Amino acid sequence: MGESEFRQLPSVDEVLCDGRIRTLCQAFARQTIVALIRHRLSETRKSLGMGGPAPSFEEIVNSIVSEAHDMASLSLQPVINATGVILHTNLGRAPLSTEALRAAELASRGYSNLEFDLASGKRGSRQTHVDQILCHLTDAEAALVVNNNASGVLLALSALARRKEVIVSRGQAVEIGGGFRIPEVMRESGARLVEVGTTNCSYVADYEGAITPRTAALLRVHSSNFKITGFANSVSLEELVELGQRHNIPVLDDIGSGCLIDTTDYGLEPEPQVQHSISVGAALVFFSGDKLLGGPQAGIILGRTELVSKLRKHPLARAVRIDKASIAALSVTLTHYLKGEAVEKIPVLRFIATPLSEVERRAERWAQFLGESATVIPAESVVGGGSLPGSRMPTRVVAIRLAGKASIQDLAQRLRQHQPPVVARVEKDALLLDPRSVFPEEDEIMLRAVRQSLACLEA
Ligand SMILES: *Cc1c(COP(=O)(O)O)cnc(C)c1O
Repeated sequence: MGESEFRQLPSVDEVLCDGRIRTLCQAFARQTIVALIRHRLSETRKSLGMGGPAPSFEEIVNSIVSEAHDMASLSLQPVINATGVILHTNLGRAPLSTEALRAAELASRGYSNLEFDLASGKRGSRQTHVDQILCHLTDAEAALVVNNNASGVLLALSALARRKEVIVSRGQAVEIGGGFRIPEVMRESGARLVEVGTTNCSYVADYEGAITPRTAALLRVHSSNFKITGFANSVSLEELVELGQRHNIPVLDDIGSGCLIDTTDYGLEPEPQVQHSISVGAALVFFSGDKLLGGPQAGIILGRTELVSKLRKHPLARAVRIDKASIAALSVTLTHYLKGEAVEKIPVLRFIATPLSEVERRAERWAQFLGESATVIPAESVVGGGSLPGSRMPTRVVAIRLAGKASIQDLAQRLRQHQPPVVARVEKDALLLDPRSVFPEEDEIMLRAVRQSLACLEA
């Protein structure tokens, strides 16, 4: 490596004089571009020192221009979900209703009475915007809303069971996904996990045998993402509550998805309903705002007033508090239930409730538009997102098969890189597009994307 190549590297000022860089400086803060140039030149020096090739001036400028544009292009963007998974964890879980979205926008755009009591002119609580309606819908005594369900469970265990014991069935010491594992959450809270029963079976006697003077709670966790079939027994909430009452120990019920409607009305398996847990007598019930409830990310805690008050006063409550845009969206989502319009207004429920005939009609239209590589076939959609494990909904998908050498994976990738991206399912040699999770107003854009990608692959 000769000295000369180092000397040939341009200076920062020389790069700044280039025409394209000057244009870049108009679109970006000058210091952003100066920092990019410094970084690029220092990286180049390092690479030259290791015997790498010397880039041309042109190459240096090109790399800075593309780096600046890459950095400014937004990474988070809307995608079209043609997977048929309605609550897709990787695609943002529940989409909001138009009204909830509008409320979040209004709450974020200007000031609001978030923590201000307009009647008295005194400080208020952000919880007042949702607690009454939550209690009304579920018959709970008290409510507390936090950032997400995992933080709600952590808060409750920390506030009620630190340095004490919490009894959980071994079959429920589960991992929900995304790193939420009951034993680990328990450890973080300072509570000691006491596992009872076996993986497939636990009985009331197992719980009862584990109760000590240090027992702070009995915890039930909904196995949101798996199902034990065959020889299995779990203790019902009724039995747990009865046991808890005999020993004066509260039952905490993490139901995960938090459904207010009866999923069997839509041909699905039953999912634990919030109202049921409250009426049976769970001391606290925990669920997410953005699963089957169909609202924003939130953790909703309902139950007995004296326990909810303890949670409200705990220092962690501030650390896990819910943001104002989410409070706004959640309150509007809840009013959809109050008004009896949840199934029409909340996208998740609307998708679940869409009759098969309507899905089929759309699939037929899609296939017709896409031509001979597309056929309509029966398939299954899933609710997903840690709810209704193993429960599937009949659907009709458009299956696309490729005649030539092009691979179906290439087609899927092309669609993911489209603007806006389209995410589809790939099964064996076919790309499957499921209308169930696609908003009808997206049909047009999606179909054009598919047709265009097909044309590119066949060219
Ligand atoms: C999904 C789920 C959680 C985590 O909820 P987040 O809102 O994602 O934090 C906790 N417990 C159960 C049983 C779940 O299904």
